[in-house]
Amino acid sequence: MAHIVVATKNAHKVEEFRRLLADQDVELLSLADFPGAPDVEENGKNFAENASLKAAAASSYCDAAAFADDSGLEVEALDGRPGVYSSRYAPTDPERIEKLLKELDGVENRRARFVCAIAIAFNGEVLEVFEGEVKGTITLAPRGKDGFGYDPVFLPDGYDKTFAELTGEEKNKISHRANAFAKALEFVEDTLSALDF
Ligand code: IMP
Repeated sequence: MAHIVVATKNAHKVEEFRRLLADQDVELLSLADFPGAPDVEENGKNFAENASLKAAAASSYCDAAAFADDSGLEVEALDGRPGVYSSRYAPTDPERIEKLLKELDGVENRRARFVCAIAIAFNGEVLEVFEGEVKGTITLAPRGKDGFGYDPVFLPDGYDKTFAELTGEEKNKISHRANAFAKALEFVEDTLSALDF
């Protein structure tokens, strides 16, 4: 069976990707399966650059087709912050949420979007980058126990549940990662299979 490496050690992300790949005849590996894989500095200026750095490095190190995502939350009233700094905004998920709610205290415009870029690489070369988004609003307080990151304060448009209150399956129907992934999958099926990965 063909295999592809997702360039992350984040178990939540691997699980989301595993669900998204459930119907495919592809074995999903992650950097957790390659303990010596070096950490890549995410010093790109946008999501696409960071995803590209991670995918290229993983495809070289693992000697396999690889993909990487880089994602984050852009809040309109904060001029797009935390953006590419979403994971570095504060030390832990609860502290990140607390800081975000503090910054938005009394702010009427709570519009935000999650953005995800997925890069696909082979032999250390980035072949393509795809982007997805999901729009919504930031709640006044955290709600729900599932998911990760900013899920408890993100209410996707058209839903009355936060990402942390939706099931993994429900989130996967609309998430930024799922949107980007659907485009990437089409590319893998059409193009990458010809590379005999
Ligand atoms: P990275 O893509 O691993 O560099 O990190 C992106 C950061 O953005 C994560 O650590 C989370 O804080 C946030 N993030 C990205 N996607 C999601 C999501 O689906 N739910 C909640 N937070 C997310």
